[in-house]
Amino acid sequence: MIGPPLFRPALKWTSSGALLTLIAFGGLVTIGLVLASAIWASRESDLAALDRQRELSNTRLSTQIERVAKDLGLMAEGYSKSISTINELGIGPQDGKGLSQLIKSVFRYDQVFVIDGKGNLVLNTDKEIASRYEWAKPLLLPMLTKLQQQDEPLPVVELMRLEGRPSIAGITGITLGPQPVAPLNRLYLIASRYIDGPALDAFSRDQGLNGARFARAADPEDNEVTFEIRATATGEPIGFIIWTPDLPGSRVVSRLLPALVASALIIASLLAMLMLLLRKSMAELTDSEQKARRQSLHDALTDLPNRSLFGRRLNDCLENQRFSSTRSIVALLDLDKFKAVNDTFGHGAGDDLLIAVADRIRALLGPNDTLARLGGDEFALLLPGRPKTDRSHLDLFGQIITSLNVPFPLLEGKVSALIGCSIGATELTDARQTGSEVLHLADIALYEAKSAGRNRFVEYSSSLESSVQLRSELKSDLRTLLAEAGSNPPSKFGLQVFFQTIHSAEWGHAVSGAEALVRWHHEKHGLLTPDKFIGLAEDSEMIHELGMIVLERACSAACGWASGQYVSVNVSPLQLRRPDYVDAVLMVLKNTGLAAERLELEITETALLDADEAMVSETLARLRAAGVKIALDDFGTGYSSLSHLVLFGIDRIKIDRSFVNLLGSRADGAAVVSAIVALSQSLGLLTTAEGVETDGQRDFLIAAGCNDMQGYLLSKPVPNPDMGDGDEIVELSAATQRVVIA
Ligand code: C2E
Ligand code: CA
Ligand code: CA
Repeated sequence: MIGPPLFRPALKWTSSGALLTLIAFGGLVTIGLVLASAIWASRESDLAALDRQRELSNTRLSTQIERVAKDLGLMAEGYSKSISTINELGIGPQDGKGLSQLIKSVFRYDQVFVIDGKGNLVLNTDKEIASRYEWAKPLLLPMLTKLQQQDEPLPVVELMRLEGRPSIAGITGITLGPQPVAPLNRLYLIASRYIDGPALDAFSRDQGLNGARFARAADPEDNEVTFEIRATATGEPIGFIIWTPDLPGSRVVSRLLPALVASALIIASLLAMLMLLLRKSMAELTDSEQKARRQSLHDALTDLPNRSLFGRRLNDCLENQRFSSTRSIVALLDLDKFKAVNDTFGHGAGDDLLIAVADRIRALLGPNDTLARLGGDEFALLLPGRPKTDRSHLDLFGQIITSLNVPFPLLEGKVSALIGCSIGATELTDARQTGSEVLHLADIALYEAKSAGRNRFVEYSSSLESSVQLRSELKSDLRTLLAEAGSNPPSKFGLQVFFQTIHSAEWGHAVSGAEALVRWHHEKHGLLTPDKFIGLAEDSEMIHELGMIVLERACSAACGWASGQYVSVNVSPLQLRRPDYVDAVLMVLKNTGLAAERLELEITETALLDADEAMVSETLARLRAAGVKIALDDFGTGYSSLSHLVLFGIDRIKIDRSFVNLLGSRADGAAVVSAIVALSQSLGLLTTAEGVETDGQRDFLIAAGCNDMQGYLLSKPVPNPDMGDGDEIVELSAATQRVVIA
């Protein structure tokens, strides 16, 4: 594609990409949330379970303390009874040992002491007990003091570390008789129990504490928890119970985890698949959207920007013009003879031609230039950002015309077509211009290029406006003129028919006939040559009427000439297409009384190409059957196709003056003209050379074997030609133009 890229799909992609990311993010967040809430719930339930276990441990410890207090009460009662008995029996203090042993084993206590109110051990029959008491005494005496100071005779029970082990120790008074005894004179019972070892085993069994152990320091393993036991008196830690807690939340999670992870993975892969599918269909959607947009802005055949995209770029260019120090050029291109190619070789060939034309022009453009196909054989160029003084676009136009003037091989090389093109260009001068104004100016220039003879480029200038104005004025005048043709009396103004004599190439150069060339004597613009108004008449379908007027006057004039002389009349391709054309010609012949053999109609190859072949050949056949001669005008400028000469009945070839011009100026001119003459002779056709201006040209043409000659050297077109009598000798020279030797 020529020109800057139109689509910026990134924008589209960003929003689709954002949507996809959002979906992916949403999916992952959902999975994450599910997992996080499962973990959170399990942690919460674990914490609750842990709290409950700690709470139970605490309660259990308190219960044990209470039990010790209760046990002490019972034991003290037992002692009181035993001691009374001992006293009654007069047994020594050593007998208390048995009682202590009994208490230890029945109540499962580790130490039992009986002391007096001052803290001295009584009933200590054992050295071991005595030394143990000595060890424990500093810890136990404060409890004694506390008990003695109490109003209520309740046991004092405390947690403490005895012999390095966590223990529950309690003290209570032993009542020996009904009379109250002063605290210092009383006996007291002390019992203690370690809470580690077997007690801890029982404790953890009851509490369901998994693998509980006792430790002096809090040094749990990773998954263990601790319960701190503090000394009742000092509040100092006396040890820790460490166990592996039962965590129901973690247990549930660990059981559910594989299933959770598996479902998360499945969901994630489904999500990924969904994303891939979505991505793919979004890409397809964007792709087809892009294609649709591209199609709506491009010509399907040549892939060039179409009218609407060209309009946009032109508008952009106009907007930028305001701030730009450069200038931009717009040009319209029109192919010559495109329709002929289409009609002759079919639409396939026409399509091939348009594609090839686009390729050739494209190859000459810069990266910022836009070539667009506006429709049919109409192309447009936008050349933006050229330096103010730059004239390179003129070179470009020249290159385009040259490159399109090289024959185009079409239908895979089966046929070849030579076309041309006209270019009209204008500069974007003013940011206030609209796109259609710019195109209008380029169109005026294009029209001028076409009228000036095609295969050229014209730049718009305000002076062209006057020619546009002139054209529209002439068009309306011509319409009036033709409408009033029959009704007005003859006037010096209006259409006039001039004649340019045609001379035999044979010795003597007698006048063989004359070509009728129309003029328009305009009241305001003077004598107008056909190039000023034939195109107009063709464009506005007035050509048929105009042609008939010329034909009628030409035939009438020829009636006054020598009987061997013919009159040659130009026929527009459009006239030939009319189904009533032959009848109209025959009617003129009949009305004027001119023999059909003395009328020669000049047609161009375009006339053969532009129309339905069968219809044209039938028209020509009917005219020739009536005796009318057919000449192929301007031979060599069009297709110069041999098949045309054979296919359509032709009597004469008129060698175009551009070839005659080559004689004497270019070496190959002689070869070309000789070849055309030889070709005509071999096909049995007559030849007339047009535009003979010099003696040299004349001499060469005579030598080459031309039949007739026409040109300023012999005579210019004049209203009343000197036709001679068809036999006299004419001496020709460039200086005298035409001298009749009597
Ligand atoms: P054409 O048929 O090729 O006519 C010959 C043109 O060449 C005439 O121009 C004539 O004046 C000019 N000419 C003749 N000899 C010479 C010469 O030695 N040197 C130069 N440079 N020019 C020469 P004109 O009369 O201006 O006609 C131009 C064209 O207009 C004709 O070209 C013909 O195609 C068309 N035309 C003229 N009259 C009619 C008409 O009645 N009907 C139609 N349809 N077309 C016409
Ligand atoms: Ca002619
Ligand atoms: Ca001609």
